[in-house]
Amino acid sequence: MAFSNEQLERYSRHIILKEIGVKGQKKLLNSSVLIIGAGGLGAPAALYLAAAGVGKIGIVDADNVDLSNLQRQVIHTTDDIGKPKVESAAETMKAINPDVEVVTYKDYVSSYNIMELIKDYDFIIDGTDNFPAKFLINDACVMAKKPFSHAGIIRFKGQLMTVVPGEGPCYRCVFKSPPPPDAVPTCKQAGVIGAMGGVIGSLQAMEAIKYITGVGELLVGQLLTYDALKMEFHKIKLPPRGCGCAVCSKDPTITKLIDYAQAACEFKK
Ligand code: ZN
Repeated sequence: MAFSNEQLERYSRHIILKEIGVKGQKKLLNSSVLIIGAGGLGAPAALYLAAAGVGKIGIVDADNVDLSNLQRQVIHTTDDIGKPKVESAAETMKAINPDVEVVTYKDYVSSYNIMELIKDYDFIIDGTDNFPAKFLINDACVMAKKPFSHAGIIRFKGQLMTVVPGEGPCYRCVFKSPPPPDAVPTCKQAGVIGAMGGVIGSLQAMEAIKYITGVGELLVGQLLTYDALKMEFHKIKLPPRGCGCAVCSKDPTITKLIDYAQAACEFKK
């Protein structure tokens, strides 16, 4: 595949990087990333991955754009209110970069559809905001051996880890099972500073780009935490993979996907 003049110009700031170059840019154009959630995390991740020229981007979200989303979900505009989020996100991504094929799934992830959703993608971004979805994505990605980026944001705090099944610990190695419903407030209940999605969602895009191009060190085996009020980033070393984990140890006790009760969870925003 030879680059057109337009592509050479569009990706010139990537191509000039010795770590990326023509070879890395081709890898990006031939790669695919699935973003689950077109919200606070998924929005910046989708913008940067589209701009970077990731060849195929899938986006999963069942909701429509709401006025209260616009404070942080920067892929949607005021004119998009009422539109399906996946449609609004796809329009913005295509407007940024016509090289990108965008595939939309207006749906929630569940044990019924997640394996089918993730199977054709190289890397998965968990941009969801609730524990049932986060454990489901982890377990499905471990079972399907798909690398993914986990992230969570609330108030002025964010966290991030990258899971490469077979190489490092999974989300469940660290957080054994979902907290009881209502034990942890949602962003709707507790609030979140809009730019937090920008910081952490962009880091998720960065991990996807590093995984695809093979550049640098991934955030595997470590949890990055960010406290915006203190402007502190910390990397916490995680226990090795598998030991006692219900899903990624040698003898897993979880071998089927679980749909945890969502009744008490804010599943929408
Ligand atoms: Zn594990």
